[in-house]
Amino acid sequence: MKKDDIKNESNNLNRGNVKKVQVPVLKKDKGITLREKRPLIKEKISAKLSDSNAKDKRCPYAKKCGACAFTGVPYKEQLEKKQHMMDELLGGFCKVKPIIGMEEPRHYRGKVHHVFGRDQKGHIIAGSYEANSHKVVDIDECLIEDIKSQQIIKTIKELSRSFKLKIYDEDTGTGLLRHILIRRGFKSGEIMVVLVLSSPILPGKNNFVKALRSAHPEISTIIININDADTSMVLGEKNINIYGPGFIRDELCGKSFRISPGSFYQVNPVQTEVLYKKAIEYAGLSGKETVIDAYCGIGTIGLAAADRAKEVIGIELNPDAVKDARINAKENGIKNAKFICADAGEYMEELKESAKADVIFMDPPRSGSTEKFILAAAGMKPKRIVYISCGPETLKRDLGIFKKNGFEAMKIQPVDMFPYTDQHVETVVLLSRIFG
Ligand code: SAH
Repeated sequence: MKKDDIKNESNNLNRGNVKKVQVPVLKKDKGITLREKRPLIKEKISAKLSDSNAKDKRCPYAKKCGACAFTGVPYKEQLEKKQHMMDELLGGFCKVKPIIGMEEPRHYRGKVHHVFGRDQKGHIIAGSYEANSHKVVDIDECLIEDIKSQQIIKTIKELSRSFKLKIYDEDTGTGLLRHILIRRGFKSGEIMVVLVLSSPILPGKNNFVKALRSAHPEISTIIININDADTSMVLGEKNINIYGPGFIRDELCGKSFRISPGSFYQVNPVQTEVLYKKAIEYAGLSGKETVIDAYCGIGTIGLAAADRAKEVIGIELNPDAVKDARINAKENGIKNAKFICADAGEYMEELKESAKADVIFMDPPRSGSTEKFILAAAGMKPKRIVYISCGPETLKRDLGIFKKNGFEAMKIQPVDMFPYTDQHVETVVLLSRIFG
């Protein structure tokens, strides 16, 4: 596995089977100060940020770890660079609003993934890959990961050493331990530990679980995920619960969501609420609308909007996520939402013939949507389309297709979901029908 597979969140854990998209390197500002150019950004990212810049701690792994592109770059500057990139890419459609940054841009990752490896002495380590290599950097204190999750990983490393477990070897296909994945509900505090192993048999399993739970009683569930394939995907298909219910719950926009190991759930819960609230605001719902939530994952956006709509139809390819979405609707007492397991483009084409939609949310993976989906969506003539994107380049491509088919971008709001790590930006776009 290349470290980019993890860094770009481009595996089945996150954004479905997405293709990697290269975002262009940012050009330098042409002699214009950012204050003159974009005074609003400075206003938005309040005084608190200058504090965090002042004590901007250097990452101890900066030289080796390949996960962060912006280590050592003050947060304000990161936002300015991202704004510049978005202006250049999308400014041709409509004016790009000032990016919404975080007040505390550290330890925001509620999903922490480490790969197992060995150091030069043969000791078990876990962390991320060195840049452009398969060498694992042992990480105990990452500046962007959730602190509690890192403490749990540290304990798992120690236990793996004392239980004399074997590390999986990519070249020979032998050994057991491949990855650790921790998810922590930001509001619920519930914690899921997923041990990705090449086989279902964890020697000393009961004692391992007991020791882990006695060190961290706050763990809600422990799952073995079996991945015996020669693959760059982190998770395999089979999960075995070895403690707890096999999922956790978290809250977003006042609703509770059940999260399974393989379902997509945003990694930055603080900014996710900002993003969803903006998307729902742009949808301008009055309670009378039929709303489509395409690429809906576990139903987060559609369910958060359901109280303000007549009905919600969620479309999602991953069957586990659809199962979670249906349970989420039930557990939140939402009766006007249904979820369909299908390819969004194909289902929209079918739906176009029989149904009408007033508002369409679409939140595709980083590889973007498809012409098939966009033509079907435009063909339904909804009043508004709200496009939530995590891939600025594919967003640009898709906005171009929408434009040719009568839908123009009215508002473009970038939200910074991934401080320090990379140049990708999450964006909410409001599209309205101009012709057709
Ligand atoms: N809206 C959700 C999920 C967004 S991630 C949220 O905010 O949490 C993108 C989702 O698109 C993933 O759940 C992925 O499984 C799904 N997906 C990928 N390709 C798809 C396709 N062709 N049709 C439908 N869903 C797809």
